[in-house]
Amino acid sequence: MITNKQHGPKIVIVGSELAGLLVARELAERFRDNILIVEKDNYLGGALVTRSEGDITYDVGAHEISGQIPQKTIDYLEMLLKEDLLRRPKRPKMCFQGDFINFPPDAVHLLRTFSKKEMVQLGKTFVKKTLWSDSGEPANFKEAMIRKVGEELYELIYKGYAEKLWSADPALMSKEAGEQEEFSLFIASLKKNLFGKEEMFLYPKNGIGSIVKEIEGKLNFYDVGVLKGARIEKVESQGKRISRIKIVDSQGNATETEVLLLIDTVSLDELYRAVLCAEPEVPIIEWRDSRIVVVHFQGNVMREGEAYYFPQKEIIFNRISEIKRYSPSLNALLRGELLTIEIPCRKGGAVWNMADDALLEACLDGLEKSKFASSRPKVVRFLTWKQEKTHPLYTQGWKKQFSLLYNRLDDFQNLFIIGHKALFKEEKIDACVSQARELSEIILKDKWLDKRLWKQRVEGYLKTL
Ligand SMILES: Cc1cc2nc3c(=O)[nH]c(=O)nc-3n(C[C@H](O)[C@H](O)[C@H](O)COP(=O)(O)OP(=O)(O)OC[C@H]3O[C@@H](n4cnc5c(N)ncnc54)[C@H](O)[C@@H]3O)c2cc1C
Repeated sequence: MITNKQHGPKIVIVGSELAGLLVARELAERFRDNILIVEKDNYLGGALVTRSEGDITYDVGAHEISGQIPQKTIDYLEMLLKEDLLRRPKRPKMCFQGDFINFPPDAVHLLRTFSKKEMVQLGKTFVKKTLWSDSGEPANFKEAMIRKVGEELYELIYKGYAEKLWSADPALMSKEAGEQEEFSLFIASLKKNLFGKEEMFLYPKNGIGSIVKEIEGKLNFYDVGVLKGARIEKVESQGKRISRIKIVDSQGNATETEVLLLIDTVSLDELYRAVLCAEPEVPIIEWRDSRIVVVHFQGNVMREGEAYYFPQKEIIFNRISEIKRYSPSLNALLRGELLTIEIPCRKGGAVWNMADDALLEACLDGLEKSKFASSRPKVVRFLTWKQEKTHPLYTQGWKKQFSLLYNRLDDFQNLFIIGHKALFKEEKIDACVSQARELSEIILKDKWLDKRLWKQRVEGYLKTL
C-alpha cells in the first residue's frame, strides 16, 4: 500500500490538459505534494482554457461538451463546477451548394439542395446500398466512406473535405479516419433528424475554462507540485520500472526526482524519446494541426445556430462558431460579434507559416465566397494562434506504428497512458473525464500494482478504432 508520505518518490503526471489535471485532482487529498505535474506551456489547461482580454472572452480550443454522455459524467462535471452547466440545443449547420443546411446533413435538406438529375443518382445509390450489402473490410478511407454514404455523396462532400482537413489523398488514409467526428455522423444524423429528438450540448456558464480553474484551486489547496514551461528530458529505469526522471524548464534549469508512478497524457513519440532515449524505430505517428483566428466584428455576422462547417476546399476554414451562442453570459455587453474560425493545416506547411494579416484576409475571403457574409464584414480586432497535434492523422499503417510505440512503453509496470494525444484517438472531454476517474480509482485502491486491470480498460478505450 502506498502511504501519503510528504517526501519520497512522486506520482509524475506529464501534460496538464483535462486527463492529467483530473487525475491530479482525484489523487490530491491523499498524495498532496507527492504529485508533480509537468507541463510544457507556461499555463495549465492546454486547449481547455477560456481567456479574457479587455472586453472580450474566448475559448482557446475545446468548445462544448456532448449532451450524449453518461449521467454520471454530467453529475461529476456539475459537482466540479461552481456555476451552471448550461444545456443548449445543438444546431450546427454546413455550407453546401450555396446554402446552409443541417450538419451532419439530413435527407430533407439534402434533397432540397439537389437537382432532379442528382436526386436520381442518389436514389440509385440508396437502392443499391439497401439491396446489396458490401462484404469484407474496406481497404481505406475512400472505400469506407463510399460504403457509408455512396459514391455520389462521397464525391460531392466528403472527398474534398478530407483533402482539405488532411492535405492528403483520401485513398491513402486508413478506414478509421472515417470514424472521426467530421465524417462518422452522417447515418446517425439521418436517422435522428427523421425520427429523433433534438440533440443538446453542455457548456459551463462562464466558459469551458471554468473546469480547469476549479481543478487548479484544489491542486493549490493540497500543495500539488506543478512545473510549467517544463519537459521530461531523461528517464531512468530499473528493469520494468521507471525509477527517476530529469525535468528541464524553459530557462534550462533541471530538476531530478524519484518516480513512483508516471502518468502520461502527451504524444507517445515525445514520451518514447524521453523514456527510451532513442528515436522510435518505426515512422512517427502523424498529426493534423490547426490555426485559430478569433475575430471581433463590428456588426452581426453569425447566422442562426452555434457552429458552421465548411467542407469546400477553396474555403480556408472548416468551422466557425460564436461564443455567445454557447453561453449568453459571455461577452454580453460587447458590441458586434466574436467569431472563432478554425483552420486545418499541417505544421510547417503554407497555412501554418502564413502571416497573421494574410490569414485574416483569407478568412474574410472565405466568408464572402461562401456567402456566409453578404459583404466584407468590418473587423474591430483579431487574435490568432497555432495549435499543434489537434487531431490524429490516420494514414495507412498507423495502427501498426502506434501499437509498436504503445506496447514498448506499456511494458513499464509503473507507466500509465491516458487521454487524447497519448492514446492517439479523438478523445473528447467526456472520455478524458472517464479515463482519469478510472485510473485514479485504480491507484487509490492500490490496484495499479498488477497492471492487467488497467490494460483491460485501455483495450476498451481503443476498441472503437
Ligand atoms: C482546437 C480543439 C478543439 C476541441 N474541441 C473540443 C470540443 O468542442 N469538445 C470536446 O469534447 N473536446 C474538444 N477537444 C478535445 C479536448 O480538448 C481534449 O480532447 C481533451 O480535453 C483532451 O485532454 P487531454 O488531457 O487528453 O489532453 P491533450 O489535449 O492531449 O493535451 C496534453 C497536454 O500536455 C501538454 N504537453 C504536450 N506535450 C508535452 C510535453 N512534451 N511535456 C509536457 N507537457 C506536454 C499540452 O500542452 C497539453 O496541456 C478539442 C481539442 C482541440 C485541440
